[in-house]
Amino acid sequence: MAIYLDHAATSPLRPQVLEAMLPYLREHGGNPSSLHGSGRRARQGVDEAREIIAGAINAQPREIVFTGSGTEADNLAIKGIAWAESPRGRHIVTTAVEHKAVLNSVAMLERSNFDVTVLPVDRSGRVDPLAVADALTDRTTLVSVMAANNEVGTIQPVAEIGEIVRSHPAKLHVDAVQFAAHAPIDVNAWQADLVSLSAHKLGGPQGVGALFVRRGTHMLPQLHGGSQERQRRAGTENVAGIVGFGVAFAIAAAAMADEADRLRELSARLRDELLGVDGVSLTGHETERLANNVSVVIEGVEGGDLVAALDLDGVEVSTGSACTSGSTEPSHVLLAMGIEPELAHGSIRITSGPETTAAEVDRALETFHTVLPRLRASREMVASA
Ligand code: PLP
Repeated sequence: MAIYLDHAATSPLRPQVLEAMLPYLREHGGNPSSLHGSGRRARQGVDEAREIIAGAINAQPREIVFTGSGTEADNLAIKGIAWAESPRGRHIVTTAVEHKAVLNSVAMLERSNFDVTVLPVDRSGRVDPLAVADALTDRTTLVSVMAANNEVGTIQPVAEIGEIVRSHPAKLHVDAVQFAAHAPIDVNAWQADLVSLSAHKLGGPQGVGALFVRRGTHMLPQLHGGSQERQRRAGTENVAGIVGFGVAFAIAAAAMADEADRLRELSARLRDELLGVDGVSLTGHETERLANNVSVVIEGVEGGDLVAALDLDGVEVSTGSACTSGSTEPSHVLLAMGIEPELAHGSIRITSGPETTAAEVDRALETFHTVLPRLRASREMVASA
């Protein structure tokens, strides 16, 4: 079995989640919009998951809209608010380190004559709340800031930003897709109007997401059809997936405090040893980072080559984010943090999860110590040939 250290890409389905989903795939196959018993069973499953997720983030069940992914939740929040509020203004504020689901959504709006301010971040990947304050104009309708970065794990000062946006008519959207697995969310403490979530980052199934939409928020749907999800997201719900999302969220929330300490220890072990290697440096914030994230840049190596070599030896990690790996462009996150493009090419992200053990971390480190010198040597040989 490979050692899986890529939980930020997908944290594999927990066995209890699968167990909870199976009856909805085998027996309760009704449509939640149907009035008969099978439909009611399906509806009940969806509503229970809605209650669990709402309860876990200090929201009301009616404020949760299920979507087909975290990406869809981001698209719905950004486009749904931008278009709903467009009679008042067409200005959106976001940051340079957001996930592509956010950056490409605002880029699309830019092509429809919205103005977008993309705020810079510091070397640790953090945005300055005062820069958010400076960017707000009377035409700003939306501020979109992630709670934690998917590549380097840096946690943003969301509550401080919420405090700033509160005194302005703009809505605050928080992409909490990565954050949700590792720390409790309180949408009221953040003063957020919209929060994106995704099931597969916390041991739920892939292809299910949710958007918290604060009661009273005017948001236009982006999928048109039936009246599901209080007319905010048309389409028959992914019942088994949503049930799995609810159970995965409940398990993650219950285990969170202990699990964060355990993951932090594993990360410290990885980090201490990796940073002892010549030419390896940490990316992201020293302390304000997700408990399970260790991301580094390594001189004299191509991140993609290292990932492939580790994979051959049974260790699964990634370069930057799963979505940008495979691309030859260095990560937009690392570039925004001021890391030189040459160095950014050597980035690696190691993210542990519920099943990760200290023994696995040690084996992964051993593998790293044999693979890295080999890769560096062959690169030098090519360079000098
Ligand atoms: N936002 C962040 C911060 C992410 O890390 C991801 C996934 O990597 C997404 C959004 C998209 O979520 P999904 O994979 O459910 O579409």
